[in-house]
Amino acid sequence: MTALQTTDIVLEARGVSKTYTLNSGLLSGKRTIEAVKHFSLDLKKNEALGLIGESGCGKSTLSRLLLGLEPPTEGSVLLHGEAIGGMSRKGVARILQPVFQDPYSSLNPRETIGEAVERPLWVHGIKDAEVRRKKVAAVIEAVGLPKRTLSSYPNQLSGGQRQRVAIARALVLEPSILICDEPTSALDVSVQAQILNLLNDLRRTMGLSLILISHDLQVVQFLSDRVAVMYFGELVEVGRTEAVMQAPQHAYTQRLLASALDIDPDAGIPALSPPPGP
Ligand code: ADP
Ligand code: MG
Repeated sequence: MTALQTTDIVLEARGVSKTYTLNSGLLSGKRTIEAVKHFSLDLKKNEALGLIGESGCGKSTLSRLLLGLEPPTEGSVLLHGEAIGGMSRKGVARILQPVFQDPYSSLNPRETIGEAVERPLWVHGIKDAEVRRKKVAAVIEAVGLPKRTLSSYPNQLSGGQRQRVAIARALVLEPSILICDEPTSALDVSVQAQILNLLNDLRRTMGLSLILISHDLQVVQFLSDRVAVMYFGELVEVGRTEAVMQAPQHAYTQRLLASALDIDPDAGIPALSPPPGP
């Protein structure tokens, strides 16, 4: 036994809380929202971890804490054992990348897809144009887009293609961890499964660790080795996906499971329920 134990934990939340303070009017004064409460979770190397919970339970807030985009009110986030709050944005970006629900909002309408995917390489100081070109071409191919997409503009692509672009841009710096917050929720039902299959393939071929966040149990179930269940800002249950699905321990998880639609076990891909209406 050595003093320094090697660990396969790549990302860890240690007792993180996030409280927002809102001004709710002249008479009522300040109101606080505890979006995340004393949440502890770890992500292991090559693991796909699902985070499930209904809308407003704090999933996106937790993801921003895990990405180091916001500091927790309490607790800490460790990336490869190092406090993420003390790391540079660029240092974090080389290891950890987000994929959000709506790729359109993060794409510049006047920039081609090739320029958008190349930008992180510029920002990270890759000066050699040929190296950049090769990396962009490789990642566009990896996400299943034809080469001609590189000269397209965002409005010329479908929602599914734009999400593939967002995934390509997240991968171009060759990070080892992706945090995907509702990556299929804005997509047509028929396209959702394609994007999930893509994430699953990329995870294998690139050796990624994934956090997949969704309000939709079936999305999470399809990809995840483990599932964490969030309820009003708290972690209520975490375990192997099969175990949580077959024998949920917490009453809230039991309710979530009971309300989910049946899955066709022969389909290979999930029989996804449509996203909730506006
Ligand atoms: P989810 O992603 O699970 O739908 P969110 O993390 O977006 O949940 O929101 C959790 C709670 O925190 C909600 O009550 C939301 O209104 C509140 N919240 C999230 N972000 C902010 C913010 N920047 N300022 C104030 N309240 C916020
Ligand atoms: Mg959210």
